[in-house]
Amino acid sequence: AIYPGSFDPVTHGHLDIASRASRLFDKVVVGVYDLPAKHLLFDTEERISLFTKAVENLKLTNVTVTPYNGLTVAFARQIGAQVIVRGLRMASDFEHEFEMALMNKKIAPGVELVCLMASLEFQFLSSSLLKEVCQLKGNISSLVPPHVEVALREKFNI
Ligand code: ADP
Repeated sequence: AIYPGSFDPVTHGHLDIASRASRLFDKVVVGVYDLPAKHLLFDTEERISLFTKAVENLKLTNVTVTPYNGLTVAFARQIGAQVIVRGLRMASDFEHEFEMALMNKKIAPGVELVCLMASLEFQFLSSSLLKEVCQLKGNISSLVPPHVEVALREKFNI
């Protein structure tokens, strides 16, 4: 399976999905999207390194982290993945994921989408809100691993 996203930066919500996926699939490849259509705080190398360190700390031995660009389904095909994993938070993610899933099905019928429901404690957590709270000097220690908190503080000079 592949678990694609921007991961700018990785949060406990993403790690929850990655570790649950690692129990469902033989191998999980986290695909860090190179150039998403949003403003990024961390470059691709930084986003990969933050996610990789988190995966190592959690000892998720069947999870690897790699960059990709272009179509997610093309990336799935390229590495022989049959499943795309995504996390779903409350109502906010559903419409967007459903739209993407239908389009992906049209262009790559062989690739299946599996959505895992976000855990209750991470339902409200997004990378964008996290960055905003951190920049405004809020406490984010329960939302990200310690090394991600350090990286965020460095970016914001706090
Ligand atoms: P994208 O730009 O592809 O939405 P994100 O890094 O924002 O990338 O999210 C990657 C995936 O992780 C998406 O499927 C998203 O819904 C999911 N996700 C994000 N935050 C959480 C969370 N707190 N709990 C569960 N899943 C999440």
